[in-house]
Amino acid sequence: MDDDPRSMSTMNWVNRPSRVIRICVVTLLVLTATAAQAADIADAQALIRSGKYAQAIDASAKGIETEPWREGWWLVNIRAELITGQYPEALKTVEAGLQRHADSVPLRLLNVDALRFNNRPDDAHAALVAIKDQAEQSPWRFGDSTSRVALGRAMLLSGLDARQVLENYYDTAKKDGPESAEPYLASGELALEKHDYALAIEAFTNAAKRTPDDPDVYFGLARANENDSDKATDALNKALKLNPNHVGSLLFQAENLIDREAYTAASELLDEVLAINPHQPRAWAYRAVLAHLTGDPKAERDARAEGLKTWATNPAVDYDIGEKLSANYRFAEGAAYQRQALAFAPDYRPARVQLCQDLLRLGQEDEGWALAAKVFEEDPYNVVAYNLIELRDHLAKFHQLRNDHFLLRMDDREAQIYGDRALSLLERARTKLCAKYGADLNGPVTVEIFPRQQDFAIRTFGLPGGAGFLGVCFGPVVTVNSPASRMAHPADWEAILWHEFCHSVTLHVTHNKMPRWLSEGISVYEERQENPAWGQVMTPQYRDLILDGGSTPVSQLSGAFLKPPSPMHLQFAYYESSMVVRYIVEKFGGEALNAILKDLGESIPINTALANHTEPIDKLDQHFEGWFTDLAKNLAPGADLEHPKLPLDADAAAMAAWTKDHPNNFWGLLGEGRALLSAGKWEAAKAPLAKAIGLYPGYAQAGGPYLLMAAAHRELKETPQERAMLEKHVAIDADAIEPRLRLIEIARAAGDWPAVRKYAEQIIAVNPLLPAPHRALAAAAEESKDRKVAIAARRTLLMLDTLDVAEQRYRLARLLADDGQLPAARNEVVRSLEEAPRYRAALALLLDVSRKMDAAPHPAASTRPATRPATAAAATATPAQPAPEEAKP
Ligand SMILES: [Zn+2]
Repeated sequence: MDDDPRSMSTMNWVNRPSRVIRICVVTLLVLTATAAQAADIADAQALIRSGKYAQAIDASAKGIETEPWREGWWLVNIRAELITGQYPEALKTVEAGLQRHADSVPLRLLNVDALRFNNRPDDAHAALVAIKDQAEQSPWRFGDSTSRVALGRAMLLSGLDARQVLENYYDTAKKDGPESAEPYLASGELALEKHDYALAIEAFTNAAKRTPDDPDVYFGLARANENDSDKATDALNKALKLNPNHVGSLLFQAENLIDREAYTAASELLDEVLAINPHQPRAWAYRAVLAHLTGDPKAERDARAEGLKTWATNPAVDYDIGEKLSANYRFAEGAAYQRQALAFAPDYRPARVQLCQDLLRLGQEDEGWALAAKVFEEDPYNVVAYNLIELRDHLAKFHQLRNDHFLLRMDDREAQIYGDRALSLLERARTKLCAKYGADLNGPVTVEIFPRQQDFAIRTFGLPGGAGFLGVCFGPVVTVNSPASRMAHPADWEAILWHEFCHSVTLHVTHNKMPRWLSEGISVYEERQENPAWGQVMTPQYRDLILDGGSTPVSQLSGAFLKPPSPMHLQFAYYESSMVVRYIVEKFGGEALNAILKDLGESIPINTALANHTEPIDKLDQHFEGWFTDLAKNLAPGADLEHPKLPLDADAAAMAAWTKDHPNNFWGLLGEGRALLSAGKWEAAKAPLAKAIGLYPGYAQAGGPYLLMAAAHRELKETPQERAMLEKHVAIDADAIEPRLRLIEIARAAGDWPAVRKYAEQIIAVNPLLPAPHRALAAAAEESKDRKVAIAARRTLLMLDTLDVAEQRYRLARLLADDGQLPAARNEVVRSLEEAPRYRAALALLLDVSRKMDAAPHPAASTRPATRPATAAAATATPAQPAPEEAKP
């Protein structure tokens, strides 16, 4: 089902946001018992792993009292104090611990954290530098696996190249302590931070083999499985089962709930985290995000201030707020937060990468690309930065078409073939949709059309993937896959552009403050408004889903997009959303929809806005459901849509016997008609097919009754009837190419050139890279003396079709000559003769054109060189008799 592209086209409220994940030393520093340490320290560690932080603190405090010479007690104690936000206590413990264990790298690394969270960033920095210096001066002191890992983490914090840390510290630590999970965990964290998910999965899987009871391992796996939500969910559940108080996992859940617009549930999870650690910076960051998304700027400022209370220059707080705002479409606000993060820590890479992506999505390309180059230079292992740089080089070769309202970037060849067509479609969309929604777009919208899916994905998500997406809109920037990337499953690119540009309009009107369902709903609705064959319609599958109670209440539609059980359910979410829009417009008027958008722009929550301009939300839920159910019931009211329990290859007799007992079964009638066609019984096939059409005239899918009926008429040479059936089908199926090609054939034979042109244009709207529709368009335009269109079509054809080049060039030359473009005409006819030197018609045309050019008052014009002037001269000089083998064309 994910072939059906339109529904998968979307704004970037993707299920796989490119999340930057940081190493948070506080929560992830893993303790390892050295061989000397006994099971009692391991027990205390187990208390931390299972989330019994207070007990871990008690046990380790006693351990410190009785056995202060054992480093492990200190580590457990400090770690638990840091997790629970007891920062002054943690710092005290660290200082005391360092009195005894001055060389312990794990302790010194905890010291860095403790200092930071006691608002002493300068001291923390000095402590970090001291670790690094000592490691460089006396590396032999840090030969054990645990120290190496801690040292590697310290090196990363001081900005050492990630690959060096991996190789010199973590990989060495793996060799030194093959049983230790720690180096694998650290490698996994590092890989996650650089978006190297494959490596992260491998590392965490290895860690899991070594410490199967460590929730950090499964938390890591959950984040690494970004593209596999089932695996991610399993891993997260495992982490929380091992430790229901696992701060990282709880925050990860809260994050997903925010993306799902489930703000109350997210807020409850944040309460849980803050009960564990009242100063947890990410929890406060997400509180700020929730306040922003619900339009409470004071609460947003207060939450941010709380997050920065214990470490006033912590760049992660602003980074986290900004990153989540961007994931929720507030790119400008997100970028502003990244700038604040960078004001605290100019080298903070996660903020730099995120800012770079925000700027590119906002269309602020000069700064965005410059930043990408810088990040890549400093951090060559960063997968996102690497991909962006590759993409930038690729994009530089794209062709640009510009007008006052759009900057369109396309592959050079594609720009020549359908660039103007795309631009004029966008103009049309702009005129209509901006007026309808009262949008005054300031500045041009950038539209990029990618022939390679991978480039599309990197431009859109920062990473490869997202194969189901046809297009994405960020507001001022739209990215779409070109038909070249979908030759096997063509989809109407005009509909996609219309849909995506409509997002630009609604996002602009609401200042990006709209729930995904409404934005998608309006875009799909507007597709259908523009062309009834675009957009989605009710299908038997949707009907069954609705009648089985599978539709989502309007008030909860956002949730339908985040974790749909199947691709069909995601498609259905688009469809249902578009029907809610239709319902609102039909029942409450277009002005109600505009008023809702206006409210959203003023940060009024969606359900309040709906209630303000329609009816109380519970009534809206109830009334929409009733209306929607009626529509489902009336899809094909007389038809029985139960699927027959018959083999797919049942013959005509078996099908007929079945339909006799089920006379109104649409599938049965369709099957009987198909079986009769297979048996060559053309006339007999008509009756069941006609009945199927009567029962369900709107069935638009491939293999529908109109097409089968057309096949019967074709065999019976009943061309007008065949044509009528094909026309009925294409009126409701925008993507069908074959039926349109046949319609062109029929119309051409009948000399119906306007129809030829119409169907040719419709095929070009689906796949402009096929030669056939351009050939038909050229012929139709020639017949109707529309020279401009004919010339363009002939030129396009020369790019797409390598057969009969001589004739094609000759025909183009003819048109150019008729149009008075003599030098261009001569150029083409000469090139035609290069292909077929004895082509008589071409020779005659060349003489004619040359004569006219000689007679023309501006001889300078005639000196425009042909591609190969020498041949041209030869051809002009010696018009000869065609040799037999060159008689073609
Ligand atoms: Zn969309």
